[in-house]
Amino acid sequence: MNKILKTYGLHNYGEIPQMASLSEKDREAIEVVGRVLPFKTNNYVVDELIDWSDIENDPIFTLNFPRKEMLSQKHYNVVNKLLQAHTDKKELAEVVNKIRFSLNPNPAGQEHNVPVMNNIKLKGIQHKYPETVLFFPSQGQTCHAYCTFCFRWPQFSGMSGLKFAMKEADLLLQYLRSKKQVTDILFTGGDPMTMNASSLAAYIEPLLKPEFNHIRTIRIGTKSLAYWPYRFLTDIDSEEITGLFGKIVSSGKNLSIQAHFNHPVELSTEAVKNAIARIRSTGAQIRTQSPLLRNINDKPDLWAQMWRKQVDLGCIPYYMFVARDTGSKQFFEVPLERCWTIFRRAYRQVSGLCRTVRGPSMSDHPGKIQVLGVAEVKGEKVFVLRFLQARNPLWVDIPFFAVYDPKATWFNQLKPAFGEEKFFFQDKSKVFTTKPFMFE
Ligand SMILES: *Cc1c(COP(=O)(O)O)cnc(C)c1O
Ligand code: SF4
Repeated sequence: MNKILKTYGLHNYGEIPQMASLSEKDREAIEVVGRVLPFKTNNYVVDELIDWSDIENDPIFTLNFPRKEMLSQKHYNVVNKLLQAHTDKKELAEVVNKIRFSLNPNPAGQEHNVPVMNNIKLKGIQHKYPETVLFFPSQGQTCHAYCTFCFRWPQFSGMSGLKFAMKEADLLLQYLRSKKQVTDILFTGGDPMTMNASSLAAYIEPLLKPEFNHIRTIRIGTKSLAYWPYRFLTDIDSEEITGLFGKIVSSGKNLSIQAHFNHPVELSTEAVKNAIARIRSTGAQIRTQSPLLRNINDKPDLWAQMWRKQVDLGCIPYYMFVARDTGSKQFFEVPLERCWTIFRRAYRQVSGLCRTVRGPSMSDHPGKIQVLGVAEVKGEKVFVLRFLQARNPLWVDIPFFAVYDPKATWFNQLKPAFGEEKFFFQDKSKVFTTKPFMFE
């Protein structure tokens, strides 16, 4: 049966049949919080993933729908007051933008990773680690639904100047031609799978030519398996999509779908199971990742269940991330120690085939920092950390230590242990002499 995508946002959420079961307070929260954080859901999420009989606790409702607690009391009251006074659009927009700017809209300095070629800033590219280039196709800067925790939310809320998107494939190809150390290209967004098949093909097909033999893997980061599995089943161009996937694989490259799943419910429908099977039948691999989020998935058994289910379906668990310092961080954040405890309690109960997963990992300016655990060294309680990925590849895999802090939720709150002033990678006298990785 063909399923047609219907999306809902602030302007039409009243049409969602299940809305009738919501309280006045829940509806007000959508109106108020939905002005500040982007809000979008769709008929698959609403009909097949959310359990409307228990909205208070439903993780997928929390994943898509604005809740009151996602804004500070102060911000909530300010916006609510303006709405009730029917303040004009312009004034409201100014206040909303001010609030947005106070919510750290561009965490971990992503703008530092934008390369320059022939004096042109390649705004749709991020190149941080030598072997992998991130590409943000301009038509893919939206998603089938929006996650309330998303750190890419400025891209959806029209905050100009914060958009990472590239219009032309030519610049990408030119850049990749000159960068022989690049083995992986990761299409990301938003969600590149919101593009139609011909747009996606226009970016990907040129990469299959012999001059790009150094690109061994094409990765596509997507939430579509969780939010719109019909993308691969009954959408009008779904066969073209899977045909393109097959073409990538038969060209001799790896195709890795980096699938974003936050909760086992997203792996439970017939549609997602069929979509995974359909993708795998093209020869593509599916790797999975998710941040760890309070109020959504902060329980070890749930992660164990998620990884087992993924392996059952032929997917490869890949990353568990620490929630980023942005947007409604206070609603979703989990202290680092608790992240590690949840990871460990999940990891220890699953088969080695699930233990391909790595985490909990913080993607911060210097790199991807994994919390290996809490330990006591000569009477000092410390966090043991390491880089899974680093701006300077020589930093990777070297254990380092931070003062134990039970409240810390992000790397910038940590201090070096043992009375040191700097972490090893911040100390110029210790930074390993090497030709640093350059974009030139
Ligand atoms: C995570 C990430 C990558 C990919 O890293 P892998 O460990 O190879 O998956 C590439 N670029 C950036 C900026 C990243 O954050
Ligand atoms: S699918 Fe990814 S990019 Fe899109 S809203 Fe969710 S977290 Fe953000």
